Amino acid sequence: MSLKGKTAVITGSNSGIGLGVAHELARAGADVVINSFTDRDEDHALAAKIAKKHGVTVRYIQADMAKPDQCRGLIEQAGACDILVNNAGIQHVAPIDEFPIEKWDAIIAINMSSVFHTTAAALPLMRKAGWGRIVNIASGHGLRASPYKAAYVTAKHGVLGMTKTVGLETAKEPITCNAVCPGYVLTPLVEAQIPDTAKQYDISEDEAIEKVILAKQPSKEFVTVEQLAGTVLFLCSPAADQITGTSLAVDGGWTAA
Ligand code: NAD
Repeated sequence: MSLKGKTAVITGSNSGIGLGVAHELARAGADVVINSFTDRDEDHALAAKIAKKHGVTVRYIQADMAKPDQCRGLIEQAGACDILVNNAGIQHVAPIDEFPIEKWDAIIAINMSSVFHTTAAALPLMRKAGWGRIVNIASGHGLRASPYKAAYVTAKHGVLGMTKTVGLETAKEPITCNAVCPGYVLTPLVEAQIPDTAKQYDISEDEAIEKVILAKQPSKEFVTVEQLAGTVLFLCSPAADQITGTSLAVDGGWTAA
């Protein structure tokens, strides 16, 4: 399948899953906009590297997904947005009565509200182009809860609600909106949780991986970035034209239980 002529905007894509999705959509021929809140030489160098590897146009646009005007500004600066992948996300692990208010606000803003702002800004461009795909990277935590992740679980459940609503609002148009719910993927986001999880449960970091993190994943294997990128590409393919307002779990069986 070729995405030649399409522009894909992927939020939070200088690392982890977002970066993998950027490579996969570029490999399929899309021009790509990668994003994060930083503005370092290495961010722009990363865009140049993806462009060179796949022979497409890749731009890095700095925008902080915690800020509504910058979420909307990202889409405005992109100029076109046929494929929107809402991927930016952060995590913080703490009991609810000790959960720092600023962490709650940041997680709700970046993981949930940014999806509202980018979607609102992108839909008019998709309607003008006569085609659009919105893929929200939610989580198994959009379907299930875990202790100490109040903000993250709340935000990801919210993203699934928004996905259903946008799917219904665009159902009669050649636009789809779906969510992907990954299980545990070994990216910087999960690596950072390991020490906190070990502390919360008073166990070693190895035990935190085995007994807490992968305890929920019946396959006992981390999901890979490539598997998620392939799922996003599938949702952009004609085979997925009638898939909208739903979520696809890529989680080694976690949410089947
Ligand atoms: P990651 O930390 O590697 O990537 C997160 C990305 O978001 C980075 O590019 C980071 O720069 C960007 N980001 C953070 N704050 C931002 C901000 N304010 N503005 C713009 N960009 C910002 O983590 P990841 O594991 O690749 O996570 C990507 C998405 O996948 C997240 O939404 C996460 O919740 C979700 N997810 C991850 C896992 C997992 O196991 N890794 C599981 C389920 C869902």
